[in-house]
Amino acid sequence: MKPKTTPKNMLDLTEILLDDNQSLSFNMQGFSMYPTFREGDRGIVEKCKPDDLKPGDIVVFKSKNNLVAHRLIKIINENNKFIFIAKGDKNKHVDKSFGADQLVGKIFTFERNQNIRSANMPYRKFIALHFSKIAIPFYNFQLRINHHYGNMKTKFRSLKENIRLISKGSKKELYQNGIISLLQGIVPFAIIVCVKELVDRLTGLNNENSHQFFLFLVVLIITAILFLLSGILSELKSYYSEKLSQSVIRRVYKRLHKKHASLDLANYENPDKQDKIHRAVQEASFRPIKMLNEFLSGIKSIASALFLIGLFISIRWYLLLILVIATIPGILIRLKFSKKFYELKDTQSRKEREMYYYNRILTGFPFAKELKLFGFFGFFKKRFNTVQENLFDEKIALRKSELRWGLFAQIFSIALIFISLGFISYLKINGQISIGTVVLFFFAFQRGYSVLNELFRSVTMIVEDNTFLNDFIDFLKLPSETEVYSIGKTSFSLKNEISIENVSFKYETSKRFAINSINLKIPAGKTVAFVGANGSGKTTLIKLLCGFYHPDKGQINYDNKNAVEIGQTKICENITAVFQDFALYNIPAVENLTLGNVQIPFDLERAKNAAKQAGIDDILEKLPDGYNTMLGNLFKGSEELSIGQWQKIAIARAFYRDSTLILMDEPSSALDADSEFQIIKSLKKLSKDKTAIIVSHRLSTVQWADLIYFFEKGEIVETGTHTELLALKGKYFSLFMKTNKEMENNQD
Ligand code: ADP
Repeated sequence: MKPKTTPKNMLDLTEILLDDNQSLSFNMQGFSMYPTFREGDRGIVEKCKPDDLKPGDIVVFKSKNNLVAHRLIKIINENNKFIFIAKGDKNKHVDKSFGADQLVGKIFTFERNQNIRSANMPYRKFIALHFSKIAIPFYNFQLRINHHYGNMKTKFRSLKENIRLISKGSKKELYQNGIISLLQGIVPFAIIVCVKELVDRLTGLNNENSHQFFLFLVVLIITAILFLLSGILSELKSYYSEKLSQSVIRRVYKRLHKKHASLDLANYENPDKQDKIHRAVQEASFRPIKMLNEFLSGIKSIASALFLIGLFISIRWYLLLILVIATIPGILIRLKFSKKFYELKDTQSRKEREMYYYNRILTGFPFAKELKLFGFFGFFKKRFNTVQENLFDEKIALRKSELRWGLFAQIFSIALIFISLGFISYLKINGQISIGTVVLFFFAFQRGYSVLNELFRSVTMIVEDNTFLNDFIDFLKLPSETEVYSIGKTSFSLKNEISIENVSFKYETSKRFAINSINLKIPAGKTVAFVGANGSGKTTLIKLLCGFYHPDKGQINYDNKNAVEIGQTKICENITAVFQDFALYNIPAVENLTLGNVQIPFDLERAKNAAKQAGIDDILEKLPDGYNTMLGNLFKGSEELSIGQWQKIAIARAFYRDSTLILMDEPSSALDADSEFQIIKSLKKLSKDKTAIIVSHRLSTVQWADLIYFFEKGEIVETGTHTELLALKGKYFSLFMKTNKEMENNQD
């Protein structure tokens, strides 16, 4: 048993404190100190003299730069020099002997469940010293049982929580289905009992006894009613089960979408979290309802099983035992394989995402042109096939092994059942039971076997579903931006300036800083440009300004208020942005614009004005249905636009928002020179009372900016107006000259 963490400086500190007569407590790990301590106890160590020690004490000593707490088994005193021998792990291994110089202290007392207890337990010391060979295996067994019990308790708790979570809001439907399942579990067995009664009554029936005939008729009618009830229940089941399914799915999707919308951007860039999201989305569509159905089927089987127990007890109880034994191998195999399948799924999710990605390339429209042009269909098909084959092979290998074990379990069960049936026949031949009871047994065995199988199948499936569902629950528990960034303690304002103070930022998945110690100011009402080569950190700074990420160092202030405290939600409400990878929405043109501000009522005039400022108004007006024309190519009657036109739509969307701050990341990359000029004019006009930040590597776009920041490798290397930067004859100047030369060459 080792006290936790003993790096060198900790070791020194421990000794200094103990020398100073302080007592220290350590969290105990392992179980070599049994039966005195348990894992999790806090052993309180005090300094002691070598003479004070006795065999059976728990001593703390230094061993290879580590502090070890073990039980002392022998003390040798040679010429006044002490040699101590202690026993370590599981009380089995004798440690290397150590001297007084290595002795640190002794555990006199310990803390368990907030109670301080004495470590001097003579009876336990005695057991540990003389009977550890018997006591330790016993302790191990006890630990294992506790472990399994603890596991089961945790599983059961998570099951209860998960069922509550997924059935939240669908309680009524769940109860309706529960009652139907309960009845469905009982009715078939009630029918079997009635059939037994019919057979027995029929055998003893004679024409003269009208009372017997009357009773026979009553049983016949009851049987018919039960048959009818069984039919009605199965009809009701399909209706109510559909109702439950719809109600649950509706809520699951609601939660799924809500969570997606609130997730912080970094989640989409981290492969591990992407795997989790992938699994959650995949599972969410069917797993909750599957789990509830299994749960209902469990209720049905439990009802049947209870009925069955009564039945067997009334005839021959030990046959029930045989029935239970017959199902055990099947259950164990199912449990084992459901765990294995989950583990496989876990390891396969990355490959699955890879496969889906290749499938998207092979079937998705955005890739179709390049696929044809470069003819790389075969390339991706081969990759898809390799991953798919690999996934399938792993799955099928596991299924094969499951099949082998499953067949073995079936043979075992059927053999037991046949032995029981033989025994029943023997009882009949000996005249101990009636023919009706034989019929009852045959049916009860056949149904009972499937009920028990069904019951345990449901239990294992529920456990399996629960394991998978945990992915969805974990996904729901992923920190959302509201928790991470959108704390929003203070309000947003931009009347003076944005100041970026010593900001550095590294993406979660990257080892390099994307931006490094950046200091800059953006005066309110001015237009500022970020220029620099690709990968120099411009977009990253824009994303930080939007509040999508936190700086790792430094801070961003809007009018002296820290962006972190304003929170992402409030920042986004007050700004507008056009990103390089803007999205295309297959909805009517006007909605493509009004999406820019869904908080205000739909405003057609404002949308038209925004379209005009972005230079897309004439195109939209000429569409077959004007502003109401559906854009894109997904739906019938849509009109597809060019990429430059889509970009103008994205810019118009930003203009429609009409915010204090406009962020534009390469807003005109797909535009021709005229369009670019028009947008710049609009932006300039708009930004009189607004602040604008524009990212570009086209110097023609940024010449008119009030201030230009030149980025290089995540840092700002030059600052000034276009004229000042040219006069500086630095990097901006070189880039400007290079661009001009290229343009001249192009004109030639
Ligand atoms: P720019 O906008 O100037 O072209 P970016 O800000 O996009 O540059 O990128 C700056 C650096 O950050 C680059 O080295 C890039 O590889 C890295 N980077 C950008 N986006 C991510 C991301 N999502 N995850 C990890 N690294 C990124």
